Amino acid sequence: MSTGTQPEINQDTVFETVIGLEVHAQLLTRTKAFAPVKAEYGAKPNTQISPLCLGHPGTLPVLNENLVKYIIKMGLATNCEIARKSIFARKNYFYPDLPKGYQISQFDTPICYDGHIDVTLEDGTEKRIGINRIHMEEDAGKSIHDQDPYNTLVDLNRAGTPLIEIVTEPDIHSPQEAYAYLTRIKQIVQYLEVCDGNMEEGSLRCDANVSIRPAGQKELGTRTEIKNLNSFRNVERALSYEVERQKQLLLNGGEVVQQTLLWDANRLETRQLRSKEEAHDYRYFPDPDLPPVIVTNEMLDEIRSELPELPHVRMQRLIDDLSLPEKDAALITEERDLADFFEELHKQSGNAKQSANLILSEVKRVLNERSLEIREFPIKPARLAGLIKLRAADKINSSALQTIFNEMLDGDQSAEEIANAKNLIQVSDTGFLEPIIEQVMADNPDEVSRYREGAKKLMGFFVGQIMKQTKGKANPKMVTEMVQKKLDN
Ligand code: ADP
Ligand code: MG
Repeated sequence: MSTGTQPEINQDTVFETVIGLEVHAQLLTRTKAFAPVKAEYGAKPNTQISPLCLGHPGTLPVLNENLVKYIIKMGLATNCEIARKSIFARKNYFYPDLPKGYQISQFDTPICYDGHIDVTLEDGTEKRIGINRIHMEEDAGKSIHDQDPYNTLVDLNRAGTPLIEIVTEPDIHSPQEAYAYLTRIKQIVQYLEVCDGNMEEGSLRCDANVSIRPAGQKELGTRTEIKNLNSFRNVERALSYEVERQKQLLLNGGEVVQQTLLWDANRLETRQLRSKEEAHDYRYFPDPDLPPVIVTNEMLDEIRSELPELPHVRMQRLIDDLSLPEKDAALITEERDLADFFEELHKQSGNAKQSANLILSEVKRVLNERSLEIREFPIKPARLAGLIKLRAADKINSSALQTIFNEMLDGDQSAEEIANAKNLIQVSDTGFLEPIIEQVMADNPDEVSRYREGAKKLMGFFVGQIMKQTKGKANPKMVTEMVQKKLDN
């Protein structure tokens, strides 16, 4: 698109990146969108089907109420307007995994529209991203090309499973912002429990539209659409690649052609799937078998009352009420289950800071090492709280905490039992420590005089010696105070 009204492009041109994302989220309803058939992931091929999923003539769709409920939850959580009346449309095309010959979708009356979410970028700044629409649709079946050398196999279990499609405004201005947006969408669907957010299993899928334009130009540049993105990092990589490709094209006097591209995650490049000329014309028309979806005030009130506390609100509460540092609060509320674990641990132990510290260090480390979800973590909050209480009361030092924690992981003893059995309760008894300190000073006269002449760094040496003598059981804070008093005398 090189019309005379556009600024000349040369080597000094500064480009602005423009990105719009379309995210499909597979809903966690028990049954399909328009048939009372199970919609579970991973079942044996073609075992979760009915005449309706097979497109038999004479079958009639019946709307799953939870589909409407879940999408309204998502709409409210993303500040959307909710249409009081919206309709379903047929999106027509031929494909072997689509026996009906059309997908039921929404076209010009999406049920949710004009929303936004705020995302936090890596440098800490907040950025608002507009949501153009969220609509309901059903999925197609799955064509399997890699299991039979001659034939394509079709699994129709997925045919008719409920999806929502979340479409942003072209408000995203870098691949990093796209990543932050996707992370936030995943967090919201998981908090709402409307989708499991698993990109590898295809429960969240993203198509990315991208264009560039000389900074200051109002008109949008010609876009390309990238498909086949199966991780958030791949979205970020593919967008970076595509922005650079478009830049080079324009700088070399070429033009961006509107087309659909596939991301090749092995070769780290995009390649053409189809051009605009081959783009589908879906011949949308209102589905005559489904009545309009009417949303009443009562429905809205009920759904609103069922909304959980959303991640950013929860994060702010942890900062305001429990004085957690912002960074800790953000990490803890990243996943709803982790935040629940934290709040239970805090309730049981009475210590927010130590609970957060333990989760963000030891607990997270074990989750990573053993590839566990927090739900599967072997120490439940009630038992873990015992460990925090010991530490908060200064009965154990930090190295003992580590030892006891590791022991608790693979057994069911309480922290106190382990501390006693391993003799890890700190010695804070001055009468016991006094003679040991005197002995260490007597054994190291050189260090004592160097310390007194100003080598204050030797304090570490003395404390170390005393910890060694007490096999790590002395309370280091108390030892430091006592040694200081003696040396400064
Ligand atoms: P389609 O009907 O082809 O899906 P839409 O108008 O629904 O197109 O837009 C799909 C997505 O592409 C939206 O997220 C929108 O913000 C984004 N988009 C549209 N035009 C551009 C553009 N020129 N550059 C980048 N993104 C765009
Ligand atoms: Mg689209």
